[in-house]
Amino acid sequence: MSASLATANDLLHSVFGFNGFRPGQEEIVQAVLDGENVLAIMPTGSGKSLCYQLPALARPGLTLVVSPLIALMRDQVRALSAAGVAAGSLNSSNDPAENARVLRLLRQRELRLLYVAPERLSRPDTLEMLCESDVRMMAIDEAHCVSQWGHDFRPEYLSLGSVARQIGGRLQTMALTATADSPTRGDIVDKLFAAPPRTFVRSFDRPNLRLAFKPKERSSRQVLAFVREHEGQSGIVYCASRRKVGELAETLRKEGINALPYHAGLDKQVRDAHQDAFQQQDGVVMTATVAFGMGIDKPDVRFVCHADLPANVEAYYQEIGRAGRDGLPADTLTLYGLGDMQLRRVQIEQSETPDERKRVERQRLNALLALAEAPRCRRQTLLAYFGESSQPCGNCDLCQDGVERFDGTIEAQKAMSAIVRTGERFGVEHLVAILTGERTENVLKYNHDRLPTFGVGKDRRAAEWRSIFRQLSAAGLIQQDFLEHGRWMVTEAGWQVLKGGQDIELRKETAPAKVSREKRAAAASVVLGETDNALLASLKTLRARLAQAQRVPAYVVFSDRTLIELATHRPDSPGAMREIHGVGDAKLERYGSAFLEVIQNSVR
Ligand code: ADP
Ligand code: ZN
Repeated sequence: MSASLATANDLLHSVFGFNGFRPGQEEIVQAVLDGENVLAIMPTGSGKSLCYQLPALARPGLTLVVSPLIALMRDQVRALSAAGVAAGSLNSSNDPAENARVLRLLRQRELRLLYVAPERLSRPDTLEMLCESDVRMMAIDEAHCVSQWGHDFRPEYLSLGSVARQIGGRLQTMALTATADSPTRGDIVDKLFAAPPRTFVRSFDRPNLRLAFKPKERSSRQVLAFVREHEGQSGIVYCASRRKVGELAETLRKEGINALPYHAGLDKQVRDAHQDAFQQQDGVVMTATVAFGMGIDKPDVRFVCHADLPANVEAYYQEIGRAGRDGLPADTLTLYGLGDMQLRRVQIEQSETPDERKRVERQRLNALLALAEAPRCRRQTLLAYFGESSQPCGNCDLCQDGVERFDGTIEAQKAMSAIVRTGERFGVEHLVAILTGERTENVLKYNHDRLPTFGVGKDRRAAEWRSIFRQLSAAGLIQQDFLEHGRWMVTEAGWQVLKGGQDIELRKETAPAKVSREKRAAAASVVLGETDNALLASLKTLRARLAQAQRVPAYVVFSDRTLIELATHRPDSPGAMREIHGVGDAKLERYGSAFLEVIQNSVR
C-alpha cells in the first residue's frame, strides 16, 4: 500500500467510520492519488462520493466538486460537516452567514471540499477567487449532464473543461456518473477531458434491490398493496403524469398512508416542504413524477414503485437505484401495460429530436420492454443491457416465483393472422375481441365475426392475449403505428414465424401470487437477525430527536445500518462503539454517550 493510500484508508475509518472500501473504490482512490485524470462509472449507491472525498482529505489543498443540484450539495456538506470535515458550498440558496463561513475558510486555506453549481463556477468573480486558492482537483459529479444524449442535459456543463484550464493549466479532473451507456460515455470523455482519462466501470449489479414487474390491472390497488407490505418505511411511487400523482397520493392518504405528492406543477414551497419531510422523517411515501429525482440523497429509501412504465431502461435503472443506497435490502415493483408502451413510443416518435437520437431512444425503450417480458431472471436481462453477464440472481420475481414457458408458435401465428386478416388496421382490443370470439360493436360493424380467425383463441382469456401481444412486440415480431391509433403490423421477423419458419417461446400469464407478505417478513427477519427490535426503536427515537434539534435528516446523524448494528452488537464502551459501521471519531464524540446510554438502559 503506498503511503497516501494508507492515509486514505485511515481516513476511511477515522472520519467516515467505515471498515473498508467498497468494491471499486480503492482502485479509483489510488489512481486519483497517483495524479491521474479519472472517469468513474459506478451505479447509484456504490459510493462514488468517497472516491473524491478521500483523496481530497488525504492530500493538501482544495478539491472543487461540481454538482448540478443545490439539494444534493446541501446534503453532502451537511454529512461531511457532521463527520468533522471542513466543507462548504457556494450556491444561491446559502444564507449570508453560511457564505461568510465558507469564504473565511477558503481565505484561511482551511476548506477541503467546495461544492459549486456549474453556472456559479463560470462566473468571473468565482473564477478569480478560485485562481487564488489552492485548488488541486475538480471532481465533476453527475458527469452525464454534459451529454446531449442523456436525460439530464445541462448546457453549463459544456464549459467545465475550459473552466478547469483557467483555474490551473493542468488541473486534475475527475468525472463521476451512474449512466453507463456508450453514447453518454463518449460524450463525457470528449467534452470534459483533453485526453482520454483512466476509466473505471463498476458492475451495475445492485444485488440488494429486489426486482419485480407486473402487468397493470388496477394500478392504484396494486400500488396500495405493495406500499402496505412496507408499512412505516420510506419509499417512492413514480407516476407518468401530474394528474395521477395527485390522485394516487390522495388514494394512499385515505388509506392511512403518509403519502405526499411531488411534481413540477406544485408551488416550489410545497415541493421543498414535501422533499424535506421525505428526507427527514421516517416512513414518508413520496408520490411523484420523475421531477423528483437527482436531488435525493437519502440512503434508506426502502422501496420504489413504478405505477406506470418508466421512459426507458436507463430511466428505470436510475429510478429504482434510489432505493437501498445503504446496501440493505430494498424492494421494487414496476407496473406496465400496453397503454404505457404506446404512450412511451408516441413520446419518442413525436419528439423534436434528430433521427439518430430517436434511434437510441427506441433501443432504450425496447430494452425495457424486453425486461418487462423477460422469460428468465430479470437481473440477468438488465445486466446484459449494460454489457455484463451474470448468473440467475435469486432476488427477482422470476427467480423466486418462476415463470412457466410454453411453445407459443401457434398462439403467435393466431395473433399475427388476426392482424394480417384485418389489413393491419386495428389496435389490440379489437384484435383480442376477434381472437376470443366476442361480438363487439366494432366486430359486427366490420363483419369480422366472419373471419376464419374469429374465435380461434377462445381457449385463452383476454388478459392472456394482451400479454401475448406485448411479448410479440417485445420480441420484435409485431409493431404498432402510433400515429394511426396504434394499429398493429407484422414485421419481417414476424413473417418468419407466421410462415412457420421459426418457433417461438412465450411465458404464461400467471395469476398474481399471494405469498409475498409472509415471504418478505421472513426475508426481513433474516436481515435483522438477532437485532433487538425494542432497542432499535429506542435508538431511532433518539436519532430523530438529535436530528430534529440540529435540523438535519435522520441519516446524517446515523444510518439505519448503524442503528441496526448498534442494536445487534450492543457496544458497552466508546471503543466498542467505534467499531460499528458508520461511527467515526467526530460522531463518536458528538453522539457516543447518548447512544451508549440508551443501549445500557435497555433491558435485554
Ligand atoms: P453514489 O454517489 O455512488 O450514489 P454515495 O457516495 O452517496 O453513492 O454512497 C452511498 C452510501 O454508501 C452512502 O450512505 C455512503 O456513506 C455509503 N458508503 C460509501 N462508501 C462506503 C464504504 N466504503 N463502506 C460503507 N459505506 C459506504
Ligand atoms: Zn433473478
